[in-house]
Order: sequence, then structure tokens, then C-alpha cells
Amino acid sequence: MHTPPLANFIGGRFVPAKSGQTLEVFEPATGKAVTTAPDSDAGDVHEAVQAAEEAFPAWSAMAAVERSKRLVNLADLIEANLDRLSRMESMDTGKPVALARSVDIPRSAANFRFFATAALHTSSECHDFDGGGVPGGLRALNYTLRRPRGVAGLISPWNLPLYLLTWKIAPALATGNTCVAKPSEVTPMTAHALCELAVEAGISSGVLNVVHGRGVDAGGSLVKHARVPTISFTGSTAVGQWIAREAGGMFKRVSLELGGKNPFIVFEDAPMEGPESAVALAVRAAFTNQGQICLCGSRVLVHKSLHDRFVAGLVEGARAQIAGDPADERTRQGAVVSAQHLEKVRGMVEAARELGGRVHCGGKSPAPGGLPERCRGGWFYEPTVVTGLPQDCRVVQEEIFGPVVTVQAFESEEEAVRLANGTKYGLASVVVTRDVSRAHRVAGALNAGVVWVNCWMVRDLRTPFGGMGASGVGREGGVEALRFFTEGRNVCVRL
Ligand code: NAD
Repeated sequence: MHTPPLANFIGGRFVPAKSGQTLEVFEPATGKAVTTAPDSDAGDVHEAVQAAEEAFPAWSAMAAVERSKRLVNLADLIEANLDRLSRMESMDTGKPVALARSVDIPRSAANFRFFATAALHTSSECHDFDGGGVPGGLRALNYTLRRPRGVAGLISPWNLPLYLLTWKIAPALATGNTCVAKPSEVTPMTAHALCELAVEAGISSGVLNVVHGRGVDAGGSLVKHARVPTISFTGSTAVGQWIAREAGGMFKRVSLELGGKNPFIVFEDAPMEGPESAVALAVRAAFTNQGQICLCGSRVLVHKSLHDRFVAGLVEGARAQIAGDPADERTRQGAVVSAQHLEKVRGMVEAARELGGRVHCGGKSPAPGGLPERCRGGWFYEPTVVTGLPQDCRVVQEEIFGPVVTVQAFESEEEAVRLANGTKYGLASVVVTRDVSRAHRVAGALNAGVVWVNCWMVRDLRTPFGGMGASGVGREGGVEALRFFTEGRNVCVRL
């Protein structure tokens, strides 16, 4: 299948890059190019910023309830196009269509619905000051105004393309900002479709602009643009570090959601049988979306007494994740996103072998004969379980972002926490135990922005979401996002 060329969306019009340059867009399941996207540069970004600036006065002055109606319309339209968008997302990323249909696209609609209505139900603060305890204190009334900040630059990765892009667009627009969004050049399709739906939803021209292109050119120009005071970025730690330096020097407000190497801790009392077992949960946490979710539990830490039994279960679960055509409704394991990424995953498993690790299953691409004919040139990798690696080696320390999980044993709660906290990252973690006191104790001791107890990927959009250390700066979700995209101004009135 070949789809029409994608375009930038600037000031309400679909336009090519000014240079006329394009990038090929590939279907990971086949390894073949299916369309092109604009290869935009600073000039395209500048035009989009201008369009967003022009749209800002009217959009920010619009009654919040009117903005909300349009964003709810967009949520409805995403839901109405669930099937089309799911197929598109699956084709673009290699993820099973069933996953796109049950997670990516419904969540994209939920993002708009959530922030469109949240913005109507948040109150600003008021502090009635009685003058006491402060030298020269007078009676005064303080209230805090929250105003949109202008043009927001929103940059997102390829693993959950529409889900993560809308997670930024929705709060930015709901609070009255306009935006220039830069989706991943690897997976640009659903961003294009979103712009078509935005027109239908009544989102005024220039409010949502999308510029496609490579990170260094399109993304870098957006980060460096002098009239974009807000940057919200989700992606790799290395790029986040560069953005922190550039944007920090320009006094921009920056949110960075970066990589992770998330521990999945299994205590000796963890349930070991049935669909709710720790093993079943670990299989899901390790291999969903081919392990390409920043929240995946890629480092299993298991109590010594369960180690061998747990590894056997994990291997059995991994082997059951048979790779297939992502477009097939029955497929649960699709392709990884690109040839380059497949090489990275392969390299890390090779490194694991060289470091003396034992590869229990996977460790290779499936034999072409095991895949449907259409997918024989695709970028597939078998779910892989590795044991026997030391804590300080790079396979345990660095993010792989593929269907590869390492398993380490621990003897005590202290050791589990020390191993869990022993990387530069701090995004998410999972604790599996029936002991309530231990669950709370360990949750409090883990250096992670998100701790799940006896579950994984349960997302309440009101909760703060983000990482510590090399996993990022700032929090998204709920009031955190509404505050991020607004400027607080305190007004103090002498009484
Ligand atoms: P990436 O950093 O390579 O790219 C992310 C986005 O940034 C893309 O749109 C890319 O074009 C753009 N970009 C690249 N270089 C840029 C630059 N110099 N200036 C501005 N923009 C630039 O990441 P990726 O490979 O697309 O995504 C995978 C990474 O994202 C993983 O590390 C994963 O953990 C992380 N991630 C984090 C979260 C989270 O919420 N913490 C969620 C999903 C993915």
C-alpha cells in the first residue's frame, strides 16, 4: 500500500517544505517505503511560528468553554476514526494493530477530552494575607492569574506517535497557547491525519501547526527559535541533554521526558500462577510494543528463591509472543521501528553475550520462513531474556528500548532497592508483593517518578508523570501540565 505524500500544516494549510525536500517513510513490517514527509528546515519552522503567533491573540482570548468545545470535537473525531488511525499507526510503527486500537488511539482521544474539560475545572489560588509574622506586613489579598505563555514547541518520539503528541498538544491548546508540533520523522503519519481532523473540529487556522522533518533541522530550529518560550520534549536522554543546554541558555521553560531502564521487582511472596501472576505481568511489561515504551520493565530483579522458576516462566511467556504481521488482528508482537533501531537492539544482545550473559531465548530475528510473506523484509526481533550480567555492565545500565529483558537475583529488600536505584535513570518501576507494608516501604525508597505496585501501565491522567535523573525534568499530566503551559502572575491588593 502506498499512501499520499504527507505535508506540513502551517496556518491552516497543508504545504510541502519550502526547499521541496522530502524524507522517505517506511513500513517496519515490510522494510519498504510507503510515503514521504517534508524534510523541513529553519525556514519552515519560522513560518509555522509566525502562523502560531498570529493565531495566539484570538485563541487565547476565546472563552475557555469555546476552546474546550473544539478540543472535545477533536476527541470525538479521533474516536470516529479509530479504525483508520489504528491501521495507520500500526503501518507506520510496526506495532500490532490491536495495540494501536486498544491503547494508542483511544488514549489520544482521551488526552483531548481530559485536558479540554480539566481546563474548565481548575481554580486559581487566592491568599488572604493578614499581615502577621512579616515585618511591615499589611493586610492584603493575593490572587494568582494563570495566562497562556504564547507559542509552545512540542517535540515527540516514534514509539507512541499520536498518543504522546496529543499528550502535549491537548494541554497546550486547552490553556490558550498555540503550538508548533514536530512529530518524529520516523512515524509522521498520524500527525498529518490529526491536522485534517483539527480542521473538521473547528480549531482555528494557525492554532495547531505541524512541521515534519529531522531532529537536528526541524527540531533544533524549533528549540532555538527566539519566539518559542515553551518547549515540551519527549525522547532520548542524549537529545534532552542538548535541549536543556540550548533552551536553558535562552531562559525557556522546558519539560523533558526522557529514557528509562525501569526495574521490575519481584519479592518472594509474589503470585506465581495464573493470568495475574508476576510472570504474566513481567511479560507484558517487558515486551508490549516490542519493548519500545519508555515505561517498559526492562530489568527484572527477582528474589533468589524464585529466580529459576521465574526465568523459566518468563522464557515461556517470551516464546509465546510470536511475531506476526502487525496488520493482522491476532498479532501480539510486531516489528521494531527501523533498520537502524534493529541494529541497536542486536548490538546490545551481542554485547550481553560478550559480557558473559546467558541468552535464554530470542537473541535473533525470526527466520523469514516463520513470517507471513509480506513481512519477510521487515525489522523483527524475537523477545529475548538474558541472565548472568553484572549490575555495572552497559547492558544493565543503558536503555535498549527493544524486546530484551535482563534478570538479576537479589537476597534482601535492601539489595533490591539498591539494584533498582543503581542506574542514572529514574522513570518508572514495578513492585510485585502481597506484603502491604513492604509495598509502601519500597515505593517510598525507589528513585522513580512512577511506582506501580502489582500492576503496570495503569495511567490516571490526573497524576504527575515524569522522571528523575537522566529520565527527565518536570512533570506532565493533570494540574502539572496546566501549570507548565501557563504563566503564574500574582496580584497583591492592599486592603
Ligand atoms: P529522539 O530523542 O531521537 O527523538 C525524539 C524527537 O526529538 C524526534 O521528533 C526527533 O526528530 C527530535 N529530535 C532529535 N534530535 C533533536 C534535536 N537536536 N533538537 C530537537 N529535536 C530533536 O528519541 P526517539 O528515538 O524518537 O525516541 C525514543 C526515546 O524516547 C527513548 O529514549 C525513550 O525512552 C524516550 N521516551 C520517553 C518517554 C517519557 O515519557 N519519558 C516516552 C516515550 C519515549
